[in-house]
Amino acid sequence: MTVSFLENFKQQTELEFNILKFRIENFSKQKFKCPVCGYYGPFRDLAMSTGSTAKHERCIRCRSWTRHRLQKLVLDELFKDYDPSTKKILHFAPERFFRKTFQILFKEYVSADLMMEGVDVKCDMTNLPFEDATFDFVAACHVLEHITDDYKALSEIRRVLKPNGIAILPVPILGKKTIEYPEANPNEWDHVRCPGEDYYDRYLDFFSVVKQYTSQDFSDVNQIFIYEDRTIWPNEPCPLRPPTPGEKHTDAIPVCYV
Ligand SMILES: [Zn+2]
Repeated sequence: MTVSFLENFKQQTELEFNILKFRIENFSKQKFKCPVCGYYGPFRDLAMSTGSTAKHERCIRCRSWTRHRLQKLVLDELFKDYDPSTKKILHFAPERFFRKTFQILFKEYVSADLMMEGVDVKCDMTNLPFEDATFDFVAACHVLEHITDDYKALSEIRRVLKPNGIAILPVPILGKKTIEYPEANPNEWDHVRCPGEDYYDRYLDFFSVVKQYTSQDFSDVNQIFIYEDRTIWPNEPCPLRPPTPGEKHTDAIPVCYV
């Protein structure tokens, strides 16, 4: 037996023990099915640096967040009519949930990020080091809310896409109207704006069609809503976030067609 086998066995045993413990401790909590890993049971609440608590946010097995689960469902829907096996993808800020899937499904896979270690290309999204029309598909989940010149980033994404290219560019939608911040807020993971329901309209300057998939398009059992008290904003950590009534918020993923 190798050390890595033993280490892996130990990690798996610990994970299964922790899942069992969590399930027992949260027996009466609402149960969901994770579309990323298949886990069924209670999900973990997450306390955020923004001052709020997101209920049922994280899958206890694969640690996916709401946005990852919705993205997985949208990708499954998309790939019913799209054959990636001949296509080339640029995966920006690659989430571990999708890296392997994209590597298997697509003919060519390129990961990129400005800060992240272990990517194929370290680069700035506002200045991509690729020729025009290099990629068939671009995925960049929760990236644009970190980029001050998002119009330049969108123009770069559009430039490196081939005719008939597709981009998936979700950001967190946190109000009606988008609010630009004077500087990045460290309590919001360095977001430079609070995107509102009008944010995806910006994509129409670069793409002919922007189709939005929302939490309402799929079964509630997947836990793809944001359960969060957003009436607490504005608060000290987030002085520019607007208050929003309700405790169950819709998430939205835009699929952009060249
Ligand atoms: Zn999961």
